[in-house]
Amino acid sequence: MGAGPGGSVAAKKCAQNGFRTLLLEKRRLPREKVCTGMIMGVWAHNIVAQEFGDIPQDVLVDPHYLSGHMLHFPGVEPQAIEWQTPLAWRRDLDFWMNKRAEEEGAEIWDTTKVLGITQSEGQCRVAVKKGEEERELNARFVIGADGATSRVRKSLFPNLKVPYMAPRRECYEGSVHMERDYFHWFFPKSRPHPRFDIIHKGDFFLIEGSGIRDLREEINQTLMGRGFDPSARPVWQDGCLEPVLHKALILGAFYPALGNVLLIGDAASLILPITYEGIGPALQSGLLAAAAISEAAEGDRQAADIYLRQLKPMLDVLKGLYSWSKGLEQKAEKGPQILSRAMKEAYEEALKISSLQQVELYPLGV
Ligand SMILES: Cc1cc2nc3c(=O)[nH]c(=O)nc-3n(C[C@H](O)[C@H](O)[C@H](O)COP(=O)(O)OP(=O)(O)OC[C@H]3O[C@@H](n4cnc5c(N)ncnc54)[C@H](O)[C@@H]3O)c2cc1C
Repeated sequence: MGAGPGGSVAAKKCAQNGFRTLLLEKRRLPREKVCTGMIMGVWAHNIVAQEFGDIPQDVLVDPHYLSGHMLHFPGVEPQAIEWQTPLAWRRDLDFWMNKRAEEEGAEIWDTTKVLGITQSEGQCRVAVKKGEEERELNARFVIGADGATSRVRKSLFPNLKVPYMAPRRECYEGSVHMERDYFHWFFPKSRPHPRFDIIHKGDFFLIEGSGIRDLREEINQTLMGRGFDPSARPVWQDGCLEPVLHKALILGAFYPALGNVLLIGDAASLILPITYEGIGPALQSGLLAAAAISEAAEGDRQAADIYLRQLKPMLDVLKGLYSWSKGLEQKAEKGPQILSRAMKEAYEEALKISSLQQVELYPLGV
């Protein structure tokens, strides 16, 4: 359910593993998604290369590869992290992945919205609306890859209280005077939050972040010296919701699977604290879900038990980064110089996570 990176890789893998696989997407494909569109960490780089191959040049947007990420704190020299990062509009990146899943045998139905799921006796019943028609599908296994406001998650856990962030994007024509080949994070209050970012894409630049409406003055001040006209109107703007369920995941108040229904990516709130990378975790959890389904089918077992066991090291990584992010809030008390160095170190480590081993981090602060 859901044709983002998580759903695409999971569908591709299930089809390759011999399952009759249906990928459902509520919107018409290709579809855009509110996202910077960076393939960020080692996880994402490795899985994209291994499962999909080289990203075609026409899927990438100018500058095709960022040289790195730059962190800006008031009164502190910007901290550059050299890190080659492929950059795309999600419309193009995800559609490329959809096609690769299709080539491996997954059937794709777009404009098909999942309405709800019930399970009984090892079977899942999925109510969908395909165009104007409502119907029910039967499936042995379901992967909920339907993003931040997941209908699958709501069906599984109707009483779960989900706190959300509400990031926005404003897209402007032209450019501002800063390195086009870097992703720029700004921390205007010398704290880990609030923050906003600037990214150049083709003939445009975007201002993105959760609090950009409240940070208007800070954004104008930061960008005015860099050729930005505060009276300029964005060509377009959009926004979305992001679930903030890290604490519930870490404390075990929320397990992202039940019976034969498995949640992955944003639907499971698997977003890395500190960098807010989500494509890598969506891909990684998609692969784990597909593997768990294969194992469950062979042994005639429930997929959730296997998936949750396999997901544990990934949750440990999340736990470590969450704890580290809490440590950064304390570092803010020591001033922007110290925070900027600590943020750079944490950000670099998050990008470098390459396996599902427990990362050595601050003691748990949850
Ligand atoms: C402003 C912003 C910038 C970001 N930048 C980055 C970045 O540069 N790099 C990075 O790694 N991460 C980034 N992220 C996070 C990243 O966008 C997500 O974590 C990632 O898209 C999650 O992938 P997914 O496959 O789980 O879900 P999604 O990509 O959200 O895909 C879910 C799909 O499910 C479909 N769907 C939803 N409901 C239903 C339904 N009921 N029935 C059928 N289909 C449904 C949706 O239409 C969508 O196509 C950013 C997020 C934001 C908000």
